[in-house]
Amino acid sequence: MYVVNDNNCGWINDLVPRTNIKTLTKNEDCDWLIVGAGYTGLSAARKLSLLHPTKKIIIVDSQLAGEGASGRNSGYLVDTTLNDGFTSNKELNNYKKKADIYNLGIEVVKKFIKEYQVDCDWNESGKFFASSNQEDIKILSSFSDVLKRLNFTHEILNRDQLTERLGTKFYSIALHTKGGILLHPAKLVRAMVDTLPENINLFENSTLINWQKEKDFILASFVNGVVKTKKIIFATNGFLKSLGIKTSYNFPITLTASMTRRLTDQEFKAIGEPKEWGVLPVRPMGATVRMTKDRRILIRNTAEVHDPFKMSKLELTNRAKIQKIGIKRRFPELPENIIQSTWSGIVSRTRNSSQIFEKIDENIFVAGCYNGSGIGVGTLFGEQIAIKASGEHSKEIEIIESRNKPTWLPPQPFLNLGVKARLMYERLRAKLET
Ligand SMILES: Cc1cc2nc3c(=O)[nH]c(=O)nc-3n(C[C@H](O)[C@H](O)[C@H](O)COP(=O)(O)OP(=O)(O)OC[C@H]3O[C@@H](n4cnc5c(N)ncnc54)[C@H](O)[C@@H]3O)c2cc1C
Repeated sequence: MYVVNDNNCGWINDLVPRTNIKTLTKNEDCDWLIVGAGYTGLSAARKLSLLHPTKKIIIVDSQLAGEGASGRNSGYLVDTTLNDGFTSNKELNNYKKKADIYNLGIEVVKKFIKEYQVDCDWNESGKFFASSNQEDIKILSSFSDVLKRLNFTHEILNRDQLTERLGTKFYSIALHTKGGILLHPAKLVRAMVDTLPENINLFENSTLINWQKEKDFILASFVNGVVKTKKIIFATNGFLKSLGIKTSYNFPITLTASMTRRLTDQEFKAIGEPKEWGVLPVRPMGATVRMTKDRRILIRNTAEVHDPFKMSKLELTNRAKIQKIGIKRRFPELPENIIQSTWSGIVSRTRNSSQIFEKIDENIFVAGCYNGSGIGVGTLFGEQIAIKASGEHSKEIEIIESRNKPTWLPPQPFLNLGVKARLMYERLRAKLET
């Protein structure tokens, strides 16, 4: 199966198209093969090149590098998330471990940006967890208690304050965390592609079809060639399952998002000229909404079990209708047809929201499953899986490996039925928040 890119992502289409694309056309031998060139794979490649400057390192991607979820996400580099349980002390401890990993993720992205002077619209504006339902104050108050105990600076805001800050009267209550960064995801991942070290061989539009482990090497088959490698790192995130990796521990979920054109001066004035902001939902199936630096509105309000390889134009159009309603609910004063682009992207989920970071067999490594935190955690895990696969150790690996491990999932068709039922339940609970 091949990943079919919809070529309609507003973020990616902001960038100058790349040239000099190389595709795998013959058999290759290498020391290291990385499969998947998103934040995880690119960051693994950068680290491996530093650790093994004389070794042959290949990285492949089914589509253009960085044009999977890494280039098409909502651009929140998160310090905290709200979708984890945190009612007991044990859970608080697990939550803290997760937040420690988020923090390491922020640091590693910050370091990259500084080292390569990357412009990715970095904005340390923090983020809002907001709801139109006043009753959600209960959820936000208990979240606030957790944040207090872990020393995260935050504040709770009411409707008037939110109207002023966001330019919409839609939300009645929110919790704002000071930490967390908004950025342009495609600019960030493009910088990771552009700064790949010289000794990395990047092959794009090259899909790994199957792979097998022999005694001292792994054979990876592509349409136009076979790569014989000593070690392999799988960094395909939402496509781990389709490559037979940790199949009982992860599953893909398809998200869709839409972005408007830039608001005109008049339209922007009509909503009170707010500064750039980002809202995450209080309930899991509510909408993520951003006002970008250049006055576009981004909305992501679907998550579903779908064929991860392709979403047709018609299916995207249908999801755009849901996003149009979401924008109208929040900004009734804006014109009807301002959506300019709609796209889909794949994330990988585990049952207990824990990430995968493992050696799964001799010379075979995998990192993935970050849910909504892959910008930071993917960049961190890529770097650290390269260190682990090189037989070295780090304090970051210690922290990563102290987290809960992903728990076992039921087989198909029970898995899909269960996930669909859960998503439907969450959708009903968040009905007015989409
Ligand atoms: C709409 C949306 C919104 C999101 N919002 C956020 C957010 O605000 N903040 C956040 O932190 N995260 C967010 N995420 C999640 C985040 O984008 C991912 O966690 C992150 O991109 C994972 O990076 P990755 O490199 O592991 O995987 P990907 O970026 O998915 O890269 C994997 C690559 O593997 C390639 N591949 C797959 N199969 C094969 C094969 N057989 N052979 C070769 N290559 C293959 C794919 O083409 C892809 O490029 C969002 C995701 C989506 C889709």
